Amino acid sequence: MSIERTLSIVKPDGVGRNLIGEVYRRFEQVGLKVVAARMMRLSQAEAEGFYAVHRERPFFKDLVRFMISGPVMVQVLEGENAIAKNREVMGATDPKKADKGTIRADLATSIDENIVHGSDAKDTAAREIAYFFRDIELCPRTR
Ligand code: ATP
Ligand code: MG
Repeated sequence: MSIERTLSIVKPDGVGRNLIGEVYRRFEQVGLKVVAARMMRLSQAEAEGFYAVHRERPFFKDLVRFMISGPVMVQVLEGENAIAKNREVMGATDPKKADKGTIRADLATSIDENIVHGSDAKDTAAREIAYFFRDIELCPRTR
C-alpha cells in the first residue's frame, strides 16, 4: 500500500445535475481526501490537450464537445492506493457495465455522459495533476 494522488473531474453532467456533493461524499466515504480543487470552464484547446491520448478515437470530437459544454469541478484526491481506489468508486466507463454502488452505475446516464473522470495509472495521474495544478496548490493531508 502507498499514499498516492490522482486527478478527478466532475464532468459537466455531474455539475449540471448538482451532484458535486454526492460525488465528494463517495470519495470521502472511502478515505480519499481532496487536497486541491477548482471549478473551471475548459476551453476547447484545454479539453483537447487533456484527452490528447484519445485524439484518434471516433468519439474524440463528441468527448471534447461534452467536456466544454459547462463548468467542471477538478480535484486532486490523496490516499492509500488513490488511483485504483478512485477508479473503483467511479465504476466502469459504460454505466451499463459498472458495478452497482459505483458513481457511474448509480448516477450516470450513458457512456458519453458518465459524471466523472479519474486518472488510470501513476504516470497519467502525475501528468494530469500537473496539467491543472502547481505543486504549491496541493495541500498534503495524509503525510
Ligand atoms: P475517463 O478518462 O473520462 O475517466 P475512462 O478512463 O473510464 O474515462 P476512457 O477510455 O479513458 O475511459 O475514455 C474517456 C472518455 O471517453 C470516457 O469517459 C467516455 O466518456 C468516452 N468514451 C470512451 N469510450 C467510448 C465509446 N466507446 N463511445 C463513446 N464514448 C466513449
Ligand atoms: Mg481515461
